[in-house]
Amino acid sequence: MKAYDYEKLNRDFEAQSSEDIVRWAVAEFGDGLVMSTSFGAESAVLLHLVTQIKPGIPVLFTNTGFHFKETLDHQDYLVSRLKLNLRELTPEIPHEEFLSQYGKLYERDPDACCAMNKIAPFEKALKDYQGWITGIRRNQAVTRQGAPFVENYRGTLVKVSPLLNWTGKMLWDYAKKHGLPYHPLWEKGYLSIGCSPETCTRPVKLGEDARSGRWAGTGKIECGIHSFSKEEPASPPSK
Ligand code: SF4
Repeated sequence: MKAYDYEKLNRDFEAQSSEDIVRWAVAEFGDGLVMSTSFGAESAVLLHLVTQIKPGIPVLFTNTGFHFKETLDHQDYLVSRLKLNLRELTPEIPHEEFLSQYGKLYERDPDACCAMNKIAPFEKALKDYQGWITGIRRNQAVTRQGAPFVENYRGTLVKVSPLLNWTGKMLWDYAKKHGLPYHPLWEKGYLSIGCSPETCTRPVKLGEDARSGRWAGTGKIECGIHSFSKEEPASPPSK
């Protein structure tokens, strides 16, 4: 893996536009560049912004089997509207088999559930690429406030986060300008949307940050994919 001066890149990127950061990643990684999406609340914005610059970029989406129907409908719409080159990832254990083996593992041990259904298939797919564009933003949660624009992701590839400094208003303005839809559940107070069990995703209350509705009451805020969450791989779950 090429060595980068991350400190300098991050200093420079603070003053550059998101489009410039994406163009840097495209020039640097070419066909080795991938992006990921959750088809969540404001996902259309990054998908639109990146595919305007690099049409046909592979888009990773981990279908855990636990998603809301609204998320899958939103996915279908955006794939068709933006002509996405979707690479849908699935867990090693098929969903029905997982349920019969582990039941409601998401209630007993959400870290283990995320490790098997989200992190494992996603990290396996990342091995095919050298650069990865994500849509994380600093104002989403306290865990994300110090995130850099570009970083070495676990020694395997370079993670690039071009929307880091975007506010809710910037997202809204961009979506409005380009006629992009928000996730259908956003209007019902779901500002960060993951899997459908109510222990994993609930609407947020006024004044709460976007990710406070994720695994509410458990102390867990991140699924463990983003390196700043410092989560270790979960131990084997109990059945
Ligand atoms: S978000 Fe919930 S259901 Fe989805 S993988 Fe994580 S714990 Fe399991």
